[in-house]
Amino acid sequence: MKYVFLPIQKIGLEVRHQLVEKARRGRYMKRYYTRKEAGLCVHCGAPAAEGKSLCPACLEYERKRNSIFYGERKARGECINCGEPLTKEERQRGNTMCAACREKRNVRRRKKKEAQTV
Ligand SMILES: [Zn+2]
Ligand SMILES: [Zn+2]
Repeated sequence: MKYVFLPIQKIGLEVRHQLVEKARRGRYMKRYYTRKEAGLCVHCGAPAAEGKSLCPACLEYERKRNSIFYGERKARGECINCGEPLTKEERQRGNTMCAACREKRNVRRRKKKEAQTV
């Protein structure tokens, strides 16, 4: 086979981007699992909290960030997952997620359950 040099433009930015992303994710996931297995915080490498993959400081940070983020959406009457405005009935029922996200969550839960029983 004759070796043909392909100019980078011909490979396509999309493909290159995918390759870079894949490599980066691979490295990140490797570190993630190494730390997790060693019982270290996957964010900063400090000793993780009991039964968690994050250290107490990172847990607190995540918790705060999430509660601010979700709290804001909830207060505005928006889905905490995708930010879509909730209907009046949903808000009255105390739902924090829109129908689409609730359905998605149900599917995920069902799949998880199935995976566990197998
Ligand atoms: Zn940490
Ligand atoms: Zn939603």
